[in-house]
Amino acid sequence: TDLAHIRNFAIVAHIDHGKSTLADRLIETCGGLAAREMTSQVLDSMDIERERGITIKAQTVRLLYRAKDGQDYTFNLIDTPGHVDFAYEVSRSMRACEGALLLVDATQGVEAQTLANAYQAIDANLELLPVLNKVDLPAAEPERIKQQIEDIIGLDASDALQISAKTGLGVPDVLEAIVKYLPPPTGDADAPLQALVIDSWYDPYLGVVTLFRVRNGVIRKGQKIRFMGTGAAHPVDRVGVMTPKPLLMDALGPGSVGFFTAAIKDIADARVGDTITDDRKPATVALEGFRPSQPVVFCGMYPAEADSYETLRDSLGKLRLNDASFEFEPESSGALGLGFRCGFLGLLHLEIIQERLEREFDLDLVITAPSVVYRVHMTDGTSYELHNPADYPDVTKIDHVEEPWIKASIMVPDEFLGPVLALCQEKRGVQQDMTYVGNRAMVVYRLPLNEVVFDFYDRLKSISRGYASFDYQLDGYGESDLVKLDILINSDKVDSLSMIVHRSMAELRGRNTCEKLQQLIPRQMFQVAIQAAIGGKIVARETVKAFRKDVLAKCYGGDISRKRKLLDKQKEGKKRMRQVGQIEIPQEAFLAALKMS
Ligand code: GDP
Ligand code: MG
Repeated sequence: TDLAHIRNFAIVAHIDHGKSTLADRLIETCGGLAAREMTSQVLDSMDIERERGITIKAQTVRLLYRAKDGQDYTFNLIDTPGHVDFAYEVSRSMRACEGALLLVDATQGVEAQTLANAYQAIDANLELLPVLNKVDLPAAEPERIKQQIEDIIGLDASDALQISAKTGLGVPDVLEAIVKYLPPPTGDADAPLQALVIDSWYDPYLGVVTLFRVRNGVIRKGQKIRFMGTGAAHPVDRVGVMTPKPLLMDALGPGSVGFFTAAIKDIADARVGDTITDDRKPATVALEGFRPSQPVVFCGMYPAEADSYETLRDSLGKLRLNDASFEFEPESSGALGLGFRCGFLGLLHLEIIQERLEREFDLDLVITAPSVVYRVHMTDGTSYELHNPADYPDVTKIDHVEEPWIKASIMVPDEFLGPVLALCQEKRGVQQDMTYVGNRAMVVYRLPLNEVVFDFYDRLKSISRGYASFDYQLDGYGESDLVKLDILINSDKVDSLSMIVHRSMAELRGRNTCEKLQQLIPRQMFQVAIQAAIGGKIVARETVKAFRKDVLAKCYGGDISRKRKLLDKQKEGKKRMRQVGQIEIPQEAFLAALKMS
């Protein structure tokens, strides 16, 4: 295909505005899959993605389109994730495109991630085509939303397409507009190969699969390629494109988006952002890569049964093959034994990995409260990054501690503005900016990441009845008055329940945690004292009274099947318990500190 007949584009939108539905429609219209093969949202390939209705990994698909001018075009559509945790994957998909459809729900309007994604696309020099979706709904207000796009994003929306990805209305116009308004790629087929690695993952049948975008030159089967960053060289086994099923090809030239496989053992050798070149005729310079993603939230993951430690390690290793943005290393805890400290892009990312471990590898896990990365500066002048509150050093040796901050943009209808500002204030936020568009406010706050990791997102959603939207970027480190809060159970410090909190909130959080634990820890044969301590000083105490209910006492003389049921029920309840010393603590307790509201 000549370059003039290729279009590489992404669809960017706020979550739920209809990206995946539109992608399905485009695939269907271009006949990529026969109708019987269409499951809904074909690009969301992982089960969890489909169930939760979110897109985690950016996927790509090649479409063939015969335009009204009678010419055939090759479209490479790159689906992007919508959640803030995965902003990094959005930026990397954009590097493979010349244009993007900016999809806006005509009943909702511009939301925080519409704006964030639009700015990212503009920064990446993409041509943006505004598209209003869901115009089939009576609540759609296309004219008002067009004005909003112009006012907030500064993009001319007078000719914005009005479509329904659900019914298919206007979808043919989208295909024509892609041909007409989005620019074709440029590149030189005769120059040395330069292809950017957009993604890589481990496929059980194909091995390590590398997704790339060719800038210059040609990649072909049998060619020996070299990764310019790592220097590793491999002969190419297979070259192909996703349709969305893999379709093998002999070669792919400039402007193409495709995949290759080779005898690559370790996914770390196919690093995202690296440049692929020809080993015999290498390019002199690598393409501009990506900033590596940085885990910002850490937690401990422990097997519920100590003998599944090896299984957990293998499973983490397998997941990591597919998701290089997540990290893990062994750690041990006095309370929980051997496990791993794992790093994630955000809380949703953490939940997804946890769910995959439990579902795909059948593991029962104990997860400790998530923590951000602190910078601890010691009196002797040294400093280090703290990933685990349990490793907090002796306070007398600490000079000061810094915590990560974020810059958050929140968009909210003005009737909910009051509670949103109060929430930001409560979370130690510092207001930076507030502007209005119509009856919607856009507020910008600096907030400590630590406070956002706890329950910020859930609370924002509930106080605004789901109407507030939120986006954030990391915004440096700042010194803070932080203390370590310890939880003691019958006078034993439980290291996996320790947390680092701001001094002003430490007592309250200590009290809340004790209350939560008192409700969660079942009665034992003896009394259980739960205490919270800051620097050795007890700030809260609760007691779980002794006496373990004999569940059988109730049905003395009753029939045996009823007894059996009760015993089974008790066993079930026990499954998710963790023995700490003499006391059984349920799994939820380790996350109890998380949900404080
Ligand atoms: P994504 O998060 O942007 O990928 O959004 P989805 O494609 O998953 O769509 C979110 C929800 O909106 C789903 O329930 C879709 O069925 C629905 N939806 C998407 N497009 C339309 C549309 O044009 N009209 C209507 N009525 N619903 C739509
Ligand atoms: Mg989606």
